[in-house]
Amino acid sequence: MLKIEELRVLVIMEVTIQLPHCTDEGCLIIDDHCVRTIHAEVNALLECSPDERNGATIYVTDRPCAECSKLIISSGIKKVVYGRDYHFDFDWFSLAPWVEIIHLTAER
Ligand SMILES: [Zn+2]
Ligand SMILES: [Zn+2]
Repeated sequence: MLKIEELRVLVIMEVTIQLPHCTDEGCLIIDDHCVRTIHAEVNALLECSPDERNGATIYVTDRPCAECSKLIISSGIKKVVYGRDYHFDFDWFSLAPWVEIIHLTAER
């Protein structure tokens, strides 16, 4: 079993090992979708502690993609507020009715 200090070192190493960025290497497009980038939702989840995520609301510009949706559901977030629809792949939220999805529109 790892001690806290060993765990901290592992986490720091993971953060400092960087994959190439889209801005350095160009986008890696598969099915009309860049798979190189780390989506903003994932970055936001990485910046939070489990306590901060549990029961939280995430505000995103675009509806989360399937990969981000799975992470959001598994992270304990309970509400997703988004502005625009996005490349539709699979609606994991339809299988997670405990997560509230709100699509903001310009209409009132
Ligand atoms: Zn890209
Ligand atoms: Zn995504």
